[in-house]
Amino acid sequence: MTAAAAPRCLATRSGRWERPTSGQEVRTPRRFYGSGFSRLELTGKAGRGVRPLRLWKRLLGLRRTVIEEIEFDEAEEVLVVSVRPRARERDRCPRCRRRCPGYDQGEGRRRWRALDMGTTFCFVEADAPRVRCKRHGVIVAAVPWARHDAAFTSSFEDQTAWLTVNTSKTAVAELMRIAWRSVGWICERVAAEAQTQLDLFADLKRLGVDEISVRKGQRYLTIVIDHDTGRLVWAHPGRDKQTVYKFLDLLGKDGCEQIQLVSCDMADWIAVPVAERCPNAEVCLDPFHVIKLSTDALDEIRREVWNDTRKAGQPGLARELKGARFALWMNPERLTERHQHKLARVQEINKDLYRAYLIAQQLRMIYRVPREQALERLEAWLK
Ligand SMILES: [Zn+2]
Repeated sequence: MTAAAAPRCLATRSGRWERPTSGQEVRTPRRFYGSGFSRLELTGKAGRGVRPLRLWKRLLGLRRTVIEEIEFDEAEEVLVVSVRPRARERDRCPRCRRRCPGYDQGEGRRRWRALDMGTTFCFVEADAPRVRCKRHGVIVAAVPWARHDAAFTSSFEDQTAWLTVNTSKTAVAELMRIAWRSVGWICERVAAEAQTQLDLFADLKRLGVDEISVRKGQRYLTIVIDHDTGRLVWAHPGRDKQTVYKFLDLLGKDGCEQIQLVSCDMADWIAVPVAERCPNAEVCLDPFHVIKLSTDALDEIRREVWNDTRKAGQPGLARELKGARFALWMNPERLTERHQHKLARVQEINKDLYRAYLIAQQLRMIYRVPREQALERLEAWLK
């Protein structure tokens, strides 16, 4: 039976395989022949062997690896690439990368899921012998195409991790055709590797500390970001002084002394430990919390004015003021015509409230103009 006659499978969104319905003929210009396993000639005629191999290595993202054979498994409809590590990569401990004496053949040959070839599943297959490391004991030898303990190739995992950062979890699981639980493990491995190559604590100068709530109920994480790189530097359950001290302990004495600025809300649990441990750091309020304060103050004034109007027996005016709440809150550029009208009415009926509104808006503008202008405006605003 030739491969061209074999029914072809399509990958669907659900991640399952489906036969094409009759009439939906899919033509595949495949070069694989034979039944069962069909083998792709890699080193056929003179001079043609090398380039296809290099191309395959590129396509599969395989480095420091020798491709032995590429087969199309007709029964499972998957591409299987048999490989071995280059001589220099063999018999290495996956933890310390040291060369070790061989121990045994482990569990024999195994497969790693590689990036799909179009819609066709693709696997890298190789022996997985064990070595005996002086420090790490008997352990499955490292392979250059995958991380330790992974069932996927490194390039497969890198792509999955990137997608996880940039899309939804359902999209990742469906597109990569893996279980969501695998996505979690993959991200852990990729993150662990990235952390060994990057010292997040190096050269920290300007930090932001804040809390975020996680899950339901009163569960919080303290998070620290680096304003210069925009990176998340540290996150830990809890929002209290102890948690902040934990971070400062990790940072060490020298690290603490390097800190020039810490932005946060006004909470003592952040400000007190920072003041204590970081002698050169200035604690400042981040824009979000400053704006929130001014919006809260504005709302308080609106409520007072509204109460006064109501008590003074002017229910019509009181209703109008109540309706103006959103107009006062919104960014001026996002105001609808109706809201603009409401604001104009506020200006007419209550000068104090309108003045408070203008002051709050001016404060907002300070964060939007270039630094020099912002300083000038801030001085003026404070007056
Ligand atoms: Zn080792």
